[in-house]
Amino acid sequence: MSKYTVALVAHDHKKPDLLAWVKTHLSVMQKCDLVATGTTGSMIEEKTGLSVDCLKSGPLGGDQQIGALIAEGKLDMLFFFWDPLNAAPHDPDVKALLRLCSVWNIPVACNKATADLIVTSPLFLSDDYQAERPAL
Ligand code: PGA
Repeated sequence: MSKYTVALVAHDHKKPDLLAWVKTHLSVMQKCDLVATGTTGSMIEEKTGLSVDCLKSGPLGGDQQIGALIAEGKLDMLFFFWDPLNAAPHDPDVKALLRLCSVWNIPVACNKATADLIVTSPLFLSDDYQAERPAL
């Protein structure tokens, strides 16, 4: 069985949704190495007991740190509950992160429904599927 390195990010109004989602899929999340932006990661560690590698807070560079992991081939997947109804000071970083997911063919879920479908796929954590990385 593969082991994924998974990034978790939620904007402030979406943090309760991401926390509830992680709790629903706790047994799956336990099988992954988790990395997260600072506030999101601290919340998940505190409320679930999962071990999370906490980076900087998003507005202070955390999204860019996750982007760097993608560029270095060190991230398999991103669950990014971003907030479409409130402006974020680091909107350029958010856009850059989503862009890198497309560049490197990283599966990314921006809402609960997509996240649910990804983690319940029979291909999730399966050795039968390996996302292709473009030869750039
Ligand atoms: P946070 O960052 O987890 O530190 O709140 C998330 C974000 O705003 O990108």
